[in-house]
Amino acid sequence: MRIHALNTGSVHVKHAFLFPSAGARRQLDLFLPGPWSDPLPILCWAVEHDGRLLLVDTGETASVRNVPFARFEVSPDQELPAAFAAAGLSLDDVAEVVLTHHHGDHVDGLVHVRAPVRMAEDELRFVATAFPRLMRRVLRQPLPAGFAPQPLVLNSGPFGAFARSRTLSEDGRIVAVDTPGHTPGHISVICIDDGGRHVMLAGDVTDTLEQLHSRRADAVGPDPSVHVATLDVVLAHCAEHPTVYLPSHDPESVARLEGAVTVS
Ligand SMILES: [Zn+2]
Ligand SMILES: [Zn+2]
Repeated sequence: MRIHALNTGSVHVKHAFLFPSAGARRQLDLFLPGPWSDPLPILCWAVEHDGRLLLVDTGETASVRNVPFARFEVSPDQELPAAFAAAGLSLDDVAEVVLTHHHGDHVDGLVHVRAPVRMAEDELRFVATAFPRLMRRVLRQPLPAGFAPQPLVLNSGPFGAFARSRTLSEDGRIVAVDTPGHTPGHISVICIDDGGRHVMLAGDVTDTLEQLHSRRADAVGPDPSVHVATLDVVLAHCAEHPTVYLPSHDPESVARLEGAVTVS
C-alpha cells in the first residue's frame, strides 16, 4: 500500500475558526474582524493498493472565492492534475473517489476526475437541507458542476472504536468510518498500512492533532456535543490501534505520514 499526500494550495483561517469562543459567539466571531492563521495546506490523498487507486477528497481549485473566515491561495498549477503529476500518478488511473464531506476545499477538484464518486448518505441528506443550501448561496460557494456522488452506506458494522463503517477494499484494509461533527455526515478513511498502522485520513474531523488532544469542537459544526463525542471515539481508537492521524489542513500531516508517526 502506498499513500500519497496531494497538496492543492493553502488557506488562511481566522483565529476564531481554530479557537472558537464558547456559546453564541462561536459562530458569530467567524464573521467579525479578527487575526488570521498562517497558511494551512489543503490536502487530499491518493491510496495505491492491490492495483487500485482510490482518491480521498479532491482538494480546491483556483476559482474558489474567499469567505469571511477563510482566505484561499490556490493557483491553477496547484490543482489536482498538477498534484497528481508531482506524485507521479495519472488521474486516468483513479478507480474511485470517496469524499469525507461536502465542503468546497474537499470537493471542488471533482471537475478534474471522471471516476465514480461516493459520499456518506447522511452527508448527502444534509447537503440538500435548507441551512447548508442558504450558506452556499450567502458565501457564494456553489457545489461543483455535475456534483452527484452516490450514497456511501456505512453498513459494514463497527471498526475499532467506530460504531459504523464501510469497507472500501476487498481485503478490508481500507475502511470508511463515521466521524460526524464538523458536518453531520462527515466520514474518515482508515488505511491499514504495510506495518499494520492505521493511517487515518481525517478530513476536517479536526484541523490539527492538537485540537484532537484538546477535545475542542470547531466553530462550524452544527452541534459541538456531537463533534466532541466523535473526538473521544477517535482518541479511543488511537489508544487501541497505532494510528497515524492526518487532518486535511494540519501543517504537520505530511511529515507524520512520511515518518509513520502515530498518536501517543
Ligand atoms: Zn470542512
Ligand atoms: Zn476543509
